[in-house]
Amino acid sequence: MLDTYRHKGLRKKLVEAIRLKGVTDENVLSAIEKVPRHWFMDSSFLEFAYEDKAFPIAAGQTISQPYTVAYMTELLELKKGDKVLEIGTGSGYQACVLSAAGAKVFTIERHKTLHEKSKIFLPAIGFGTIKQFYGDGYKGLPTYGPFDKIIVTCGAPYIPENLVAQLKIGGKMVIPVGEGNTQVMQSVIRLSETQTDIIDHGLFRFVPMLENRNEK
Ligand code: SAH
Repeated sequence: MLDTYRHKGLRKKLVEAIRLKGVTDENVLSAIEKVPRHWFMDSSFLEFAYEDKAFPIAAGQTISQPYTVAYMTELLELKKGDKVLEIGTGSGYQACVLSAAGAKVFTIERHKTLHEKSKIFLPAIGFGTIKQFYGDGYKGLPTYGPFDKIIVTCGAPYIPENLVAQLKIGGKMVIPVGEGNTQVMQSVIRLSETQTDIIDHGLFRFVPMLENRNEK
């Protein structure tokens, strides 16, 4: 796969644009600079890969806006080696950014075609350590948990209890919550077995998190 000086230059500019929008975590910004976003997009969209915009991928899904990916990754407050569960593999871009930022990544996708594509693609571009699963994100990955952090990259109608239960005490989940086409970004911090603290951030737009609807 090609990553030319032009691509690298565009990526540097994208990082500066994201910095201007308020992301300050250097570890996150350097992860965005490392991962060639154009590899995750259809060739017809190549020239748009370094605009700060969401774009369509297969199966009616989207690759999130780079700012949103950076912002959510910053909210996770990653420490090196953190075990992170992602819901909604999609193109695999967010998973690779998490991995480039030093996380041990587990990711779930409910669309079989997307899962099968990323299952081959991520190892091929050097991200073979990311563990990929086909399944329902509402269930999480009980046998692999608990996780230091959880990131949900689709709009959830509510905070899934199973996911909170798979967070370590002191762990944090970043999740866009809301039905319809706008969601409130929330941080859910697990304080104890029974208590959580929820912090609201800004408004975002995500494709919906669907339940019991695994698809080909
Ligand atoms: N993180 C992705 C964003 C993809 S869009 C990226 O960087 O490209 C959100 C993804 O969530 C879609 O691929 C959608 O199929 C998936 N999704 C929706 N509901 C889900 C569920 N219940 N379990 C797992 N994945 C789900």
